[in-house]
Formats: sequence, C-alpha cells, structure tokens
Amino acid sequence: MNVVLQTLPASLYDVNRVRADFPLLGRKVHGRPLVFLDSAASAQKPVQVIETVKTFYETEYANVHRGAYWLSEQATRRYEGAREKVRAFLNARTAREIIFTRGATESINLVAATWGRATVQAGDEVVLTGLEHHSNIVPWQMLAAEKGIVLKVVPVTEDGRFDWESYETLLSSRTRLVAVAHVSNVLGTILPVQDITAAAHAVGAKVLVDGCQAVPHGVVDVRAIDCDFYVFSGHKLYGPTGIGVLYGREALLRAMPPYQGGGDMIASVSFEGSTWAAPPQKFEAGTPAIAQAVGLAAAIDYVESLGLESIAAHETTVVQYATERLAAIKGVRLLGTAKPKASVISFTLAGVHPHDIATILDREGVAIRAGHHCAQPLMQRFGVSATARASFGLYNTRAEADALADALETVQRIFG
Ligand SMILES: *Cc1c(COP(=O)(O)O)cnc(C)c1O
Repeated sequence: MNVVLQTLPASLYDVNRVRADFPLLGRKVHGRPLVFLDSAASAQKPVQVIETVKTFYETEYANVHRGAYWLSEQATRRYEGAREKVRAFLNARTAREIIFTRGATESINLVAATWGRATVQAGDEVVLTGLEHHSNIVPWQMLAAEKGIVLKVVPVTEDGRFDWESYETLLSSRTRLVAVAHVSNVLGTILPVQDITAAAHAVGAKVLVDGCQAVPHGVVDVRAIDCDFYVFSGHKLYGPTGIGVLYGREALLRAMPPYQGGGDMIASVSFEGSTWAAPPQKFEAGTPAIAQAVGLAAAIDYVESLGLESIAAHETTVVQYATERLAAIKGVRLLGTAKPKASVISFTLAGVHPHDIATILDREGVAIRAGHHCAQPLMQRFGVSATARASFGLYNTRAEADALADALETVQRIFG
C-alpha cells in the first residue's frame, strides 16, 4: 500500500467537504461535538453509501441468480457489478477470484475450513505473527487442534515491526501457510507483505494477508503482492456491516472443497450426490448479503472518488500531528512507533487504566477504544493488559487531534 504523498497535496484535500458527507459526524455526544476516533473498529458511513442502499431497496431489490424476471436480473447485475468493483479495487485477475462473505473473520475461517482441512497434515506448519488479530489466530488454532499442525509465531520488535530475521528462520519446507496482517490494528505498522510473500513462496508455502486495516488507507494490489488469499471487511471501508471479501487465486479456489452447503453453490443436486458450482458461487451458499454488496461497491466508489493516495496523505499528516501532541504529554507511552505506519495510535498513560481514559474522554465527546483490541498476544508482548487506541479515518482533522490531546492532558492533570 502506498502512504507516500502523491496526487493531491494534503493541503488541497478538503476535509470539511468530506465530513459533510457523513451525517453521523454532525451529531453531539454528551452535549459535545462528536470526535470519532475509532474507525479501526468500524468506520462511519457516507451519505453516498446510505443512499445507494436505500435506493436499491426502494427500486431494484430482489433475490439474485434465481428469477427470470427483470427485477431479479437487475439485482443480480448490481450484485455481480459489486464483485467486479471489488476485483478492480484489489486488481485481481478475474471476478471469479472474489468471494463475498460476512466479513474478514468469515473469510479467514473459510480458508481454514476448506483449503486448510484439505491441505494440511500432522506436522505441517502455519506461520503467523505476534501482532495478529484474534480472527487470524483462532481459526488456525482450531485447524491445529483438528489436524495436529504446528503454529509458529514471528515475534514483534520493541518498536512494533515484524522481525524479518526470525521469520526467515521459521520458514521451512514444513511451512504450508503464512498468515499475516497487512497493517496491525493495534500498532498501525505496515508489514512488508510483498517480501513476506516472496520468501514464503520460495519454500513452497501459500500466503494469506489480512487486509482489514490496509484497504481503507491506501492502494492494495493483490497481483503486486502476489499473495494467494487476501481478506477484508466492508464496514471498515465506510461500507455496510455483514459483507466481507475473500480474494483467492483462481486455481486454488477451484481445487478447494466447498465451505457451506445449500442453494446457489451447486451445479446439480440429487439424493445420489450433488456437484458444485464453479467459484465464486461454490463458496456462496444461500442468499447472499445483496444490498450490503451493493453498499460496499458504493463505498469503494466513494474512497476512489477522493483518491486513496490523497486519503493516505491527509491521514498521515493528521496522525503525525496527533502523535507529536500525545508524545509531549507526561506519562504517555506510545506503542508501535515503527515506520511505515497507518492510521492507528495505541498508548497508555501512567497511573490511569485505559478504560478510565476512554470513559473520561467520552464525556468530552471524544470516542476512542480501550481494551485488548482482539490482539491479546500482542498485549502480552508489550506487558500490558490493555491500551487506549485512537484510530483515524479520512474524515478526521487536526482539530480533532487537538481535542484528543487536550482531553488527555486533562486526564493526566487529574490522575497522572
Ligand atoms: C477488524 C479486523 C478483523 C476482523 O474483522 P471483522 O469485520 O470483525 O470480521 C480482522 N483483522 C483485523 C486486522 C481487523 O482489524
């Protein structure tokens, strides 16, 4: 992903115009203007997405892939059009490589339950990193328990980087899969997924990249990365909940057994036996999240209309400014200072529990996350049980960074 300044300089990115697209950002919380700094958990939705979903339900909604009538054909065109939109967004070779799921979590579980079960044998190894989200840990633990495979974990350095030397020593001819985050949801670290993939392929392993925190913040090209699987969730990309994506290399998808059985995933069904449809339908049993897919396509249109490079440049200036302000506050410890880094700042404040920080900030209208961020192994690595986390999106401003830092200074004065 590209976080380098390109196209529009950040100064020409009209963040106030962007904010006007997000109705929820105009509301007050506890009588204060809302300062929303939790987009890494889920992003707010622009009116372009909200209206697209509403209009779709009002004028074009029907089930897909079934009816011979106009409305169903129209809904199918919109649903398959969304698939093509995602294909272009990720630069996949063909829309047959794009599977719609309920979210990144389901995408990873799908790979573990199908490719994983069909491929791994006792003694095989799966390599993860110490900064993975639980969604990219637990499905592999379940596979390990079932198949007797071994999970190897690449350690995280003190400044939050992926430890390349350890990675190289963990890779071997026993490695079947390397499953890594593209961007850490706690530290913001951007991992060198292209190099990670090349090294994995050199030992014959496949690579799954968890792109949840990458796609909202920069251009992603699965062909350039050359990974075998790439997953993300719609709701962190300013789209609806209940829709996610699994990109998979076509040859792999063809060889993989189905995930769930049901309607839409079959070629034929009889009581003697059934045959499967080709990908992607093979992995989309039952009625899919039709309007959510249409909403995701609208979200992709939205971020592309602003330009992902411009979004990245804008966010980088805001995050750098926020980082400087927080670093200047007595007792603040920043976790994950390594560059390159995307739009997440995790921190602790000496003497104050992260939950108390978040509760006090909330009274000021500042919404941040506190907890383990679904990454308990990473918390253990840094010797904390929780952190406070401010995460930034395309709509956040320097003034909001100031609101965060000012509120934190107040907390520090009271408790620190
Ligand atoms: C949010 C997140 C997930 C899980 O996504 P869901 O939408 O909850 O399925 C997985 N990995 C990372 C890095 C995330 O940030």
